[in-house]
Amino acid sequence: MERLPVEAQGARSAPDASARPSIRIRQVSKVYTMGEIAVHALRDVSLDIWPGEFVAIMGPSGSGKSTLMNILGCLDQPTSGSYQLEGVEVSTLSDDELAAVRNRYVGFVFQSFNLLPRLPAVEQVELPLIYAGVPKRRELALARLADVGLADRVHHRPTELSGGQQQRVAIARALVTNPSLILADEPTGNLDSRSSAEIMALFQRFNRERGVTVVLVTHEEDIARHARRVVRMRDGSIVGDEPVADPIRAVESASDGDAVDGGEP
Ligand code: ADP
Ligand code: MG
Repeated sequence: MERLPVEAQGARSAPDASARPSIRIRQVSKVYTMGEIAVHALRDVSLDIWPGEFVAIMGPSGSGKSTLMNILGCLDQPTSGSYQLEGVEVSTLSDDELAAVRNRYVGFVFQSFNLLPRLPAVEQVELPLIYAGVPKRRELALARLADVGLADRVHHRPTELSGGQQQRVAIARALVTNPSLILADEPTGNLDSRSSAEIMALFQRFNRERGVTVVLVTHEEDIARHARRVVRMRDGSIVGDEPVADPIRAVESASDGDAVDGGEP
């Protein structure tokens, strides 16, 4: 799709494209109207996220984290304000244009994995490639599953995988189209601490080795400390934005210790 012109950048950025934020939002508000009642889910939020950053978003329930993630991921649009994703002004796009931008730039990971119940892992990972019309889908899906340590689970269905393994399938699915941005809304919310560490190790590896920008919502300080920057929200506003002094580096375990009951012997 056509790129829309990027408006003049502030003093902080050089004119070349590599010095452009991946995410640039300015005075974004989101109001949900329910009958007579207006819910101000986001109020005048401005935020830059640069290529290759690893950002955690924290805040109490109802503070607007998911609303922000939905806008960042082009699943929803702001009521007012500007959002540029990789230089494209997306706040004014049609639904089809929005979907095209989303498919090109964004991979999602959710708390509840969002896998299709009956489909083997490899077919789950192929799905975004089918939508994108990409050839050699099986090969790419198998490679991504190997990347997340599931080369020996490619024909397993979700019920035959542990929670941690299901989330790894979801990460392979999010990465298979080579997005520049991974958005993860409470990706470890349904996982035990060991599986959570494995998932954080994967995000850190893809961030470090491939330069994928990662934005992750969590309510756990321990998880947020794997990021290099923490943005805090309250009542629809950003109330804090700080670097993490000494991020935790999660370690990927050598053995596959979280096989599920009833899975492979
Ligand atoms: P968080 O993810 O931080 O818990 P949300 O972004 O889900 O917060 O919600 C922010 C506010 O917007 C809450 O008051 C919530 O009730 C409201 N809200 C979220 N989604 C909708 C919606 N689709 N319709 C109406 N209100 C919504
Ligand atoms: Mg939420």
